[in-house]
Amino acid sequence: MAYQRTEITPEQIAEQEAVAARLREHFCAGGKTPLALVDTYGCQQNESDSEMLRGYLSEMGFGFTEDEFAADVVVINTCAVREHAEMRVLGNVGALNHSKKARPEQIICICGCMVQQAHMAEKLKHSYPIVNLVFGPHELWRFPALLEQTIRRKKRVFAVEVADGSIAEGAPRTRQGWPKAWLSVMYGCNNFCSYCVVPYVRGRERSRRPEEIVAEARTLVEQGYKDITLLGQNVNSYGKDLGCGTDFAGLLRLVNDIPGDFRIRFMTSHPKDATEDLFRAMAECEKCAHHLHLPVQAGNDRVLREMNRGYTAAQYLEKAALARRYMPDLVLTTDIIVGFPGETDAEFADTLRLVERVGYDAMFTFIFSPRVGTRAAAMPDPMSREDKQRNFDRLLETANAISAEKQAAYIGTVQEVLVDGVGREAGMLTGRTKNGRLVHFPGETGRIGEFVRVKITASNTWALSGETE
Ligand code: SAH
Ligand code: SF4
Repeated sequence: MAYQRTEITPEQIAEQEAVAARLREHFCAGGKTPLALVDTYGCQQNESDSEMLRGYLSEMGFGFTEDEFAADVVVINTCAVREHAEMRVLGNVGALNHSKKARPEQIICICGCMVQQAHMAEKLKHSYPIVNLVFGPHELWRFPALLEQTIRRKKRVFAVEVADGSIAEGAPRTRQGWPKAWLSVMYGCNNFCSYCVVPYVRGRERSRRPEEIVAEARTLVEQGYKDITLLGQNVNSYGKDLGCGTDFAGLLRLVNDIPGDFRIRFMTSHPKDATEDLFRAMAECEKCAHHLHLPVQAGNDRVLREMNRGYTAAQYLEKAALARRYMPDLVLTTDIIVGFPGETDAEFADTLRLVERVGYDAMFTFIFSPRVGTRAAAMPDPMSREDKQRNFDRLLETANAISAEKQAAYIGTVQEVLVDGVGREAGMLTGRTKNGRLVHFPGETGRIGEFVRVKITASNTWALSGETE
């Protein structure tokens, strides 16, 4: 499959910014500050995409709100990975009927992976007349032009053509997560795991140039960000399309060389492409968290083959063991799908066994959700939902018991924690250890963005708690 790499030029982004400036006059007429609500579903890449949407909206003069009744523009950035996320989006779009009735001039935009599927765009066109603008992930960089079209033409706009995807450098960003920042290193996916919709909606793998990534990381560090997560659907194929000699391990080293006191994380790693070179780079780069999110999906070889994952359970175990040899303090997390079409109870038992053998620090578990157009959606799927749920509950019980045990081992240790937010209870802060464990502890909000030492005194399945030293 030939893929034509399309780069959006700085001139094209400048054009969008010129449109944003025109829209600023439109929205800010009479000196008012318009408000936008940006609601994000799904993965970190979507969070990162929403930063670009907010960046353009800021240039148009918008402030931000979480109240749909106060919003002049609503943007819902959707996810398509499982049906559950789509149902939530459709429910929330339906609920906007009320705010649209109260403010008929409100502009409702739906973007992201869900609408890049033809059947979903059709559904919005026919069943959700309140929606004004629909655009897929490939159109994100020209959000101002699409919004202007919607306003000027007073017509609904749908921009969801099938595309391989492009790379846009230099678009504005309004970030929200200080002291943590997302940094995309590549987009799209070529793996076509048989259950997954991502390659269809996000297009082919394309890497940003290392110098662009390093420049952005450097700016983030200068701005005081302390925790940078490098993002890609499969970061281990970074650079293959560029042929510039920098692979992901090389990229890690380049970012690690940026002077400053900060941490580097990344996700996601596909096990078939995780190499010894990567583990060595992780171990040697002093800023890199020893955290590997290595989604296994299943522990049975027939199921893994049907999923088109490209590894066996034994090969996965070998990789996990090798990573741990390089980093004895490695935090290992994973994703698992229960109830893939045709998975038997005996095959599921292999997943349980693998989970017990690896001993994950945390797991994200999902029941298989058929996605339109994927190979797995057409496979015979005889197991009942109740039986899948029973297996899912068993897996969760096992996972939670292992996590709780791993977490308890931190009690009595002192961890360096980056303070990143306030807790739910008054006077409490949240933070992360270097390797990504969540910690709750008492402290002043002024300490957000600082590294502090916390003595761990208690733990549960998901979090540690303690006192600053
Ligand atoms: N690129 C990443 C993950 C993308 S989706 C990777 O390859 O690891 C995140 C997780 O959602 C996947 O790891 C998988 O466990 C789950 N997932 C994807 N498609 C799914 C489906 N159709 N049903 C249930 N879970 C799914
Ligand atoms: Fe989906 Fe597989 Fe690509 Fe991950 S690697 S995004 S699971 S197709």
